[in-house]
Amino acid sequence: MARTIAGNIEEVTKRIAEAAVSAGRSVEEVTLVAVTKTRVPEEISQAVEAGLRVFGENRVQEAKSKYRLLPESLSWHMIGHLQRNKAKDAVAIFDCIHSLDSVRVADEVEKRCAAIGKTMDVLLEVNVSGEEAKFGLKREELEEVVRHVLSFPHLRLKGLMTMAPFVDDAETVRPVFRGLREVRDRINETGLCHLKDLSMGMTQDYEVAVQEGATMVRIGSAIFNV
Ligand SMILES: *Cc1c(COP(=O)(O)O)cnc(C)c1O
Repeated sequence: MARTIAGNIEEVTKRIAEAAVSAGRSVEEVTLVAVTKTRVPEEISQAVEAGLRVFGENRVQEAKSKYRLLPESLSWHMIGHLQRNKAKDAVAIFDCIHSLDSVRVADEVEKRCAAIGKTMDVLLEVNVSGEEAKFGLKREELEEVVRHVLSFPHLRLKGLMTMAPFVDDAETVRPVFRGLREVRDRINETGLCHLKDLSMGMTQDYEVAVQEGATMVRIGSAIFNV
């Protein structure tokens, strides 16, 4: 039988639930963020009809050209590297930024949010695996950036995000996801804040990410490849 976007969503949702249950977690703890980069509004509409409400884009320009063509009730999340000069557009479009990775950008987002009276949910991107040429804060820098972000009145720090390296076997990246959870727990132990969210897991590895505590999985191909 031909695959459809609705059918894919059903399958992904079922697998998220199975992964959650296998780890003794509740499926309500996990939000499916459908990643719509390169997808046209017609494809996104099919996902909306299938019941999805939260969508992720990795480029501000692309999000800007699409989001107005879709229902206002949707929630858009910025999941890609954010440049300072895109912060103004980003705060107008998005309800959550997963990929804050410097005080400089956080400062600009704070300023732009203050200007329009908006409070933004944010996650800090952490480079858990230590790979070169990747975005994300080093573990050693994280606490200092957390302190800064907590001081900004228009940013609501919800948690952490990571990208795992691309590998064939998802089990290989389990330590990366476990690592992000441990980093979050360590930040919480400082008493500075109580971070709940972990944005981790994509098409190749979301089940492992859910088993390790993901509260947001960012999935594109498994939903939109038909
Ligand atoms: C594209 C993208 C995803 C989704 O990737 P798939 O493999 O298509 O599920 C998740 N997170 C980020 C940051 C992305 O850019």
